[in-house]
Amino acid sequence: MYDVVIIGSGPAGLSAAVYAKRANLNVAVIEKEYEGTGQIAESGNVNNYLGVPDINGYDLGEKFREHALSLNVCFIEKEALNIEENDSGYIIKLDDGENIKSKTIIYAAGAYPRRADVPGEEEYTGKGVSYCAICDGAFYKDKTVTVLGGGDTALDDALYLSDICKKVYLIHRRNEFRGAQSTVEKLKEKDNVEFVLSDSVVEIKGDKKLDSVKLASGKELAVDGIFIAYGSVPQTALVKDIVQLDDKGYIVAGEDGFTNSADNGDCLMGFFAAGDVRTKKLRQVVTAVSDGANAATSAAEYLMKKCNVEK
Ligand code: NAP
Repeated sequence: MYDVVIIGSGPAGLSAAVYAKRANLNVAVIEKEYEGTGQIAESGNVNNYLGVPDINGYDLGEKFREHALSLNVCFIEKEALNIEENDSGYIIKLDDGENIKSKTIIYAAGAYPRRADVPGEEEYTGKGVSYCAICDGAFYKDKTVTVLGGGDTALDDALYLSDICKKVYLIHRRNEFRGAQSTVEKLKEKDNVEFVLSDSVVEIKGDKKLDSVKLASGKELAVDGIFIAYGSVPQTALVKDIVQLDDKGYIVAGEDGFTNSADNGDCLMGFFAAGDVRTKKLRQVVTAVSDGANAATSAAEYLMKKCNVEK
């Protein structure tokens, strides 16, 4: 039986693993993606992580992973399909049928990109529709693309693509951006970036190959590719029956990672949440890393108290 099983290997999960290992706990990380590092791997330049002024998101994720590996953290590359509570902790059922037991869980499964939910999106996903400019931008060299959204991801994506593509439309449903004004100013200086404000895509069209988007205003824009940056949705389907979620699906948890039972709202003993899956104001690498440290510390303290009570 493990002391701690961490579900998710993004910055929160890897930070939790490092702290749990240093607290001398028997720890494993379950990750469904082979050698994953979470959403950070798809980020462009990260320049707000203290002490590392300018680094590619993929490289930063690799550094986090190497740190965990240097402490001999055990990684289990399988998907967790079910979690059940029992008297000594939790049983996690994996996709190959194996059950693993742990006294505590740190749930750090992160979030996935929100879909636009418009006709054509599903049909052209991977064939012109992308959720990751860093991953797929190079396919659109000297082509015309559109970025959808008005947050930091959309702004960063538009800036990144403006150096690759012939033309970038940035389509946002309001006339002011949610993301950083400093990036908006950089975009305004780009001759090949056009803002399409107070409008949104209602259909993605094509004839075998994606060729245009239809807007709510009735306009149509000819494009070769679409990058959807509508934010993210927490990956909490696996735990929705055991842990309390807020109305947007995030796990209700404070900085210490403690969670509440979905049944009665009481503290869910030994179950901690860290990173983008939990309720919080700022979802960034630095806060995910901090969450992982806090959750592992909470898990260590919880195990110590439990052990003293049982003696
Ligand atoms: P976000 O801040 O939630 O922005 C999502 C954008 O998509 C919003 O502008 C929203 O419009 C729009 N949107 C959502 N659903 C839509 C729909 N159905 N139709 C039309 N528009 C829709 O997500 P994000 O940009 O991915 O950022 C997430 C977090 O990561 C934020 O805290 C952000 O600051 C952070 N981040 C930081 C950096 C950086 O520091 N360089 C880079 C990337 C992300 P409204 O504005 O009208 O709601």
